[in-house]
Amino acid sequence: MILEYDDYATEREFSTGVVVVGTGAGGAVVGTELAEAGEQVLFVEEGSYVRTDSFNPYATASIPRLYREAGATVILGNPPIPYVEGRVVGGSTVINGGMAYRTPERVLAHWREESGSDELGPRAMEPLFERVEARVSVARQTPSSIGEDNRLMTEGAKKMGWAYTVNQRNQQACVGANNCGLGCPTGAKQSTLVSYLPRAFAAGAGCLTQVRVERLWIERGRAVGVIGRGVCPLTRRADREIRVRARAVIIACGAVQSPLLLQRHKLGRPSGLLGKNFLCHPNAKVVAIYPHDVNGWKGVSQNTQIREFHEDGILMAENFVPPSVLGAYLPFHGQRAWELMQRYNQMVVSGVLVEDSSSGTVTRGPFGMALARYQIQPLDHRRFLRGIKLLATMHFEMGAEKVILPFFNQPEAQSPDDLRTIDELQRSPSTLELFTPHLMGTCRMGSDPKRSVVGLDGQLWELPGCYVADASLFPTAIGVNPQITIMALATRIAQRMQERRRAAA
Ligand SMILES: Cc1cc2nc3c(=O)[nH]c(=O)nc-3n(C[C@H](O)[C@H](O)[C@H](O)COP(=O)(O)OP(=O)(O)OC[C@H]3O[C@@H](n4cnc5c(N)ncnc54)[C@H](O)[C@@H]3O)c2cc1C
Ligand code: SF4
Repeated sequence: MILEYDDYATEREFSTGVVVVGTGAGGAVVGTELAEAGEQVLFVEEGSYVRTDSFNPYATASIPRLYREAGATVILGNPPIPYVEGRVVGGSTVINGGMAYRTPERVLAHWREESGSDELGPRAMEPLFERVEARVSVARQTPSSIGEDNRLMTEGAKKMGWAYTVNQRNQQACVGANNCGLGCPTGAKQSTLVSYLPRAFAAGAGCLTQVRVERLWIERGRAVGVIGRGVCPLTRRADREIRVRARAVIIACGAVQSPLLLQRHKLGRPSGLLGKNFLCHPNAKVVAIYPHDVNGWKGVSQNTQIREFHEDGILMAENFVPPSVLGAYLPFHGQRAWELMQRYNQMVVSGVLVEDSSSGTVTRGPFGMALARYQIQPLDHRRFLRGIKLLATMHFEMGAEKVILPFFNQPEAQSPDDLRTIDELQRSPSTLELFTPHLMGTCRMGSDPKRSVVGLDGQLWELPGCYVADASLFPTAIGVNPQITIMALATRIAQRMQERRRAAA
């Protein structure tokens, strides 16, 4: 059963075993695990069900139907950081790049130490990673799907003597169409839309699409369901009230929307941490223009990552995007932008990701809107300057003619000499142009109610029957692409819920 807005003209009350709000990396996985274990599961998803054969490379059509607020969402701070989230069945996994990394061991060791429990340690997480990786088909790319821009990045890393890793991606027979960010049109990328969710539906789960959950249904101090509204896909008006009653409620709306929903009930009091510990792996882009065609649009994005500086919190990778997206992010306008975009075939789009050394907050703003705040700290600013200089130097070493830099006041370098002025000109983080697709940490998981929002089983300390299973669980930033970590934690939460159910039976 997959319902949409028009169906709610007649049907608005539902009852189920477990209601899961959100169908992204966390929600789809926890719901599928439970459905396959015999639970009655109903997903509630604000976005629409968009079929694989309708994905296309046209950004103006695709972004409004796949991205929250058409991608126009910003973290407030100095500098402001644009961020994006999926709002579609499959969540952000439908629009993500398909990089599939396990949580680094050093991060898991830290989580184990902090939580005082082996549950988040490398040994306990290993079987969870294995299970997730098998379900989303994590594998290396075939050589024919790798483009020239990736080869150039790998050669660049070798020339500089830097360590790099060849990416694992959740894909089956990826042809390197490089449309991951607008939905994979071949179904190769194993987003939850084509991996987990079909399994859940085959096991009897249902999904109410185009419903935005606005509050929890709480009775006698226990979560017994959710209440939301059907959202008209044409007008985006939320009108028809929908109620879902359930034995257990799982919130998996992502690290911005989950705390927003829970804050409506003033939860998170024991620790005061709900909506805090907001982490975002800020990214800066570095675009190199070569004197010859590279045709970066041919071949998969990010086949390799440069890991030489990973221990220092810096990751570098190629990240090619369609022309419409790139055009919007270049620092030029009019004739200058036009001239630059004519060289699209000669570009290598790459970036620097910095592992957060601090965190921000998500709070409820006017009209219930999410207000995300985050401030780049001096350590992370220094990491950005270092990473940008190193990456630009590598491109010049590889023969780039010029490099477009992510600074408002210094948008390009014509030669390596121009990079020498970066430290002088970039004393304040306010000149940085950043961006992020990785949002984490706002409902911190842990074993101490005074230092976490949910326990190691995902349940809110102060609201029995209400669980969280998404990126907001992360105790700290992880420094690599997060979807596999989220899926592994969601698998663990499903297992804990089943163990608890069996024990109570
Ligand atoms: C462009 C992009 C590229 C990325 N690339 C990678 C990558 O290569 N590798 C990687 O590991 N990670 C990548 N990520 C990150 C990864 O996809 C996310 O971290 C992950 O999907 C987050 O999982 P989640 O369950 O927390 O939230 P999401 O996957 O975002 O799912 C949340 C779902 O909840 C729904 N929802 C929200 N609020 C409500 C509500 N009130 N009522 C009903 N439904 C609601 C949303 O519509 C959404 O479908 C990328 C992300 C983006 C956006
Ligand atoms: S590169 Fe193309 S085929 Fe491969 S996963 Fe991305 S969109 Fe799909």
